[in-house]
Amino acid sequence: METNPCGLSVSAQSAAKPYNRFHSLPEERINRMSSNSFQMRYSRIHNMRSLFSLFSSDLAIDLGTANTLVFEHGKGIIVNEPSVIAVNKITNEVEAVGREAKEMLGRTPGNIVAIKPMKDGVIADFRHTEKMLNYFIQKAHNRKMMVHPRIVIGVPSEITQVEKRAVMDSAYRAKASEVHLVEQAMVAAIGAGLPITEPGGNMVVDIGGGTTDIAVISLAGIVYSRSVRMAGNQMDEAVITYLKRKYNLLIGERTGEQIKIQLGSAYPLDKPMQMEVKGRNLIEGVPKTITIDDSEIREALGECIATIINAIRVALERTPPELSADISDRGIVLTGGGALIKNLDKRIREETGLPVSIADDPLASVVLGTGKMLSDFKLLRKISID
Ligand code: ADP
Ligand code: MG
Repeated sequence: METNPCGLSVSAQSAAKPYNRFHSLPEERINRMSSNSFQMRYSRIHNMRSLFSLFSSDLAIDLGTANTLVFEHGKGIIVNEPSVIAVNKITNEVEAVGREAKEMLGRTPGNIVAIKPMKDGVIADFRHTEKMLNYFIQKAHNRKMMVHPRIVIGVPSEITQVEKRAVMDSAYRAKASEVHLVEQAMVAAIGAGLPITEPGGNMVVDIGGGTTDIAVISLAGIVYSRSVRMAGNQMDEAVITYLKRKYNLLIGERTGEQIKIQLGSAYPLDKPMQMEVKGRNLIEGVPKTITIDDSEIREALGECIATIINAIRVALERTPPELSADISDRGIVLTGGGALIKNLDKRIREETGLPVSIADDPLASVVLGTGKMLSDFKLLRKISID
């Protein structure tokens, strides 16, 4: 009977004489095996190396109201996601964090809530801030189980002792070996490249999601700082209210933000802009599309911009004269996502008569400045607030 006994006979043979098996292998397979063993040795060396690199994967985190960014020493920014967490109200389980959770804002079914646990520059919801922070740290580690990194976290200037403790504890629970806190305004200035260690006034205006933080820094210390609850979120709200009043059009938070980003300006644009907006008509109760232009959104943002400029004026008034003189030479640096409002720099320049510049990457200034602290422990010791 002609059967094909191949598989059977081989396994029977190898079971009977296991050590002779290699002798009958064709040359090509032997070569492949030796190259495999080379690969194994190589990958072992490689693993050792990555094991060593594990020990140096210190992290810098910008715990922002709108966005959380994580910077890894030697790598750069590895996480950049909205500070949003979606949880199941019934099971209390985390459904999504970051970008995915932000997509859910205003679209969740009854049992899921999308939460922004950082509000107005303070931690409004400890439990979820901790969960979110933990998620981002784990994501940064990317399953590197053995890492116990040092972590430096940029926190809002007006943080309370209890909030500080909560942030530090959650970083320790996420297996940090050392945790340091720094003020966002200070690291924003460092990230924007200001010479903050020199004796000379530097003014930084960080326009974030929940607050605008104004600080005057000299000799690595904060001489004046003030936080006003007027920033990106309030601008989104202003756009929503404006469209509701003028067009009876109801739009969501995310649409409000998109309109602000696309059309928002603080001073007339060289080239007018328009945009189509979809929402629900409040009177007819049906979806409707309208076209709006930049001048309308400028009007909508008017009060928000005026409040920010007013706070800058107050800061300038309260700054000691020697430092004021420095600021009038060096000017004001804008950081944070709000710095990207079109022509805001021009408007502040016009209203204060001072030079105004925007940081190179305003959304990343805080995390880049915090990241610098991972290799400058002397400065970190000077500025840390823990
Ligand atoms: P936080 O530090 O509070 O997390 P960010 O510095 O990340 O805040 O800034 C987030 C804010 O910046 C949001 O309100 C966002 O809408 C706004 N933003 C981002 N990009 C732009 C843009 N191009 N124009 C205007 N606003 C922007
Ligand atoms: Mg910020």
